[in-house]
Amino acid sequence: MSLPGRAPFCCAGFEGMFDAAGKRGIGVFALEDHAGRPSFRIQFRSLDPGNVPNFSTPFPLSLMTQTGLTFCPWCGVNLSLHYSRTWRTLLRPELGM
Ligand SMILES: [Zn+2]
Repeated sequence: MSLPGRAPFCCAGFEGMFDAAGKRGIGVFALEDHAGRPSFRIQFRSLDPGNVPNFSTPFPLSLMTQTGLTFCPWCGVNLSLHYSRTWRTLLRPELGM
């Protein structure tokens, strides 16, 4: 299922996590690498943006982390191949670390 102007998603899991990107929890999105190719990311956020309290801990604490994705974690497609013509609709450069 897909809305007009959006990529035909490989599966409901990836679509749901794309819609959740930038919010507390897990999200997926694409960035453009230095060579102009898609670079897919899965990102984990502990807090919603704009809702970060002022606090300190005696130990290191990650509020956000991300790593690259080659394959969809839910259906297994190769993301660069599946989204070879539509990956720009998945760009969310404002969410990159
Ligand atoms: Zn998928």
